[in-house]
Amino acid sequence: MIKATKELTLPTTITGSLPRPVWYTETLGARPFRDALADARFREQYTDAVATCIRDQERAGLDIVTDGDARFDTDVGGMSWFQYPARRFKGLAGGDYYRTRKGYGGTAKGDIIFEVMESRVMPRAVARIERGPLQYSSLWKVAQGMTVRPVKFGTITPELIGTSVGNDYYSSQEELLRDISAAMRDELRELAGAGCAIIQMEEPNIHLVGVQRGGGAQLDVEFFVEIFNNTVKGLRDLTEVWCHTCWGNPAQQRLFATNQSYRDALPHLNKLDVDVLTFECATSDGMDLELIGKAITDKKIAIGVVDHRNLQVERPQQVADLIRRALKHIPADRLILSSDCGFGREGMSRRIAFYKMVSIVRGTNLVRKELGLPEARCLAADPRYALAEEM
Ligand SMILES: [Zn+2]
Repeated sequence: MIKATKELTLPTTITGSLPRPVWYTETLGARPFRDALADARFREQYTDAVATCIRDQERAGLDIVTDGDARFDTDVGGMSWFQYPARRFKGLAGGDYYRTRKGYGGTAKGDIIFEVMESRVMPRAVARIERGPLQYSSLWKVAQGMTVRPVKFGTITPELIGTSVGNDYYSSQEELLRDISAAMRDELRELAGAGCAIIQMEEPNIHLVGVQRGGGAQLDVEFFVEIFNNTVKGLRDLTEVWCHTCWGNPAQQRLFATNQSYRDALPHLNKLDVDVLTFECATSDGMDLELIGKAITDKKIAIGVVDHRNLQVERPQQVADLIRRALKHIPADRLILSSDCGFGREGMSRRIAFYKMVSIVRGTNLVRKELGLPEARCLAADPRYALAEEM
């Protein structure tokens, strides 16, 4: 159900993760979050880090904020995004399973993706998979208690966890995926029931249809649609549900060709039971905007207007130009502005991520002004608080 973005025209947000502050040195590891909060040093650093992430987004002027994925440790290539839930579901144990995927951004020794993949040690299914201490609602409450702006909570999808863990228990991967999906659904219902206004499902695998991948049996795209919709079943009655897609982020690397198009995936993505679909559009300079606008006609569409892999901060004019081109194919009341993906934890500095957020808002404000819409307050760009004279 459109809830958080209901009253907002051209709302701005980011995908989720922000670079960790250098002073945030504590680690969560495999501990349940609530247990870790009893550790005074972790509690102070974690809550300060979340407050900092939220404050940076508010200073930039974003309408919808995130907790910066501050639960994730400093890791190689976004490993915690996989491991946080994988280590906490019951039925998954150990940490010795890893594999490389052929044709996946290069997977031979000497390729950066090989190092990412060999660092991604995952558990194995050793018993029936059930809910464990993911404690998503506790994580969200800590963040939402710090701001009046809606906090979007993001999670990796069950299908991506299920295709990344080992299996010593199930007779088929489909069965394994169905049980993770059921366990995740209960977790997300509790989160929505707690009041979370936006839940973002990250990477449904579906946009990889037609993309050459290796490493294990290929599952049918319709099966992924079914699993996704099973996970979010009933969720839209409670909250606004987003689905995030992109072309990769491990160690800030793109895993697919730069001309990789969403074309083949759009009919399948349109079947997802969600309110908002997100698309990587900055890196491709809006290559798929027309296709997206034609294929997705009732859901809202969030487009990336800044690149999460490039260290060059986009100029507001560049962002505004992409938004204007998007508006030729997507009506303003269904368009949301975001980053292509999360800014990650190891590849980008906080400063660069911050100014990219500021550019999202400044660029959107240029278009809002042209359309006669109210502009967002961007404290970071308020000349009254400049320490040096503007040139
Ligand atoms: Zn992404």
